[in-house]
Amino acid sequence: MRPDAVQMLSDIEDEVRYTRTFIGRDALAPQVMAAMAVVPRHHFVPADEQAFAYVNGPLPIGWGQTISQPYIVALMTDLLGCGAGDRVLEVGTGSGYQAAVLSRLVDQVYSLEIVPQLATAAAERLQSLGYANVTVRLGDGHRGWPEQAPFDGILVTAAAPAIPPALIEQLRPGARLVIPVGQAYGHQELVTLDKALDGALSLTKVLDVAFVPLTGGAAA
Ligand code: SAH
Repeated sequence: MRPDAVQMLSDIEDEVRYTRTFIGRDALAPQVMAAMAVVPRHHFVPADEQAFAYVNGPLPIGWGQTISQPYIVALMTDLLGCGAGDRVLEVGTGSGYQAAVLSRLVDQVYSLEIVPQLATAAAERLQSLGYANVTVRLGDGHRGWPEQAPFDGILVTAAAPAIPPALIEQLRPGARLVIPVGQAYGHQELVTLDKALDGALSLTKVLDVAFVPLTGGAAA
């Protein structure tokens, strides 16, 4: 592994320990850390940000959007708790980095992106890097991806004031949704929403976070 990638993993482990009281864990699942170790983040970062590709922070990817901080990607992947055999929906493809990390752990990743240029670039990038089990589609995540539902997990990488109802509907009973909830550029909390086998929903607040806003809308 590149030395800067080794450092990134160590920085993620440190931040997990610093935030243990919020996230309820001392370490992330080994398979999540293994996925973080193998996905080459520098391929998902713009040319003028290459020097920072493995720094534990978000970076601009154009169109006012960001590739999330590695710790947040790892944490959300861990919270999702998906593995072999699972089909996962991601809302907010962005660079495709989170989708690539998920693709190392689950069977199929379906990822929705609302900015056409980002959707096209991410789809090409993922294909050229060989992530054959990721499908990117241009669309508004508020509506989810009904043709592929239900999902064994849904991960949203942009903040919404409330959880879009279509995403809750498209969650398989027994599955979990991970999403930052809050105001655009205001207070946001990363939450998990579990749908029990009987359909009952339970919400757990995890951590204060700062995500770009989920744009579009139910009527879009
Ligand atoms: N997961 C990304 C991080 C992307 S930032 C990565 O690993 O790089 C959030 C992304 O969500 C942005 O690309 C933004 O354009 C996208 N987005 C915002 N609102 C959306 C919506 N309603 N539907 C789909 N994507 C949306």
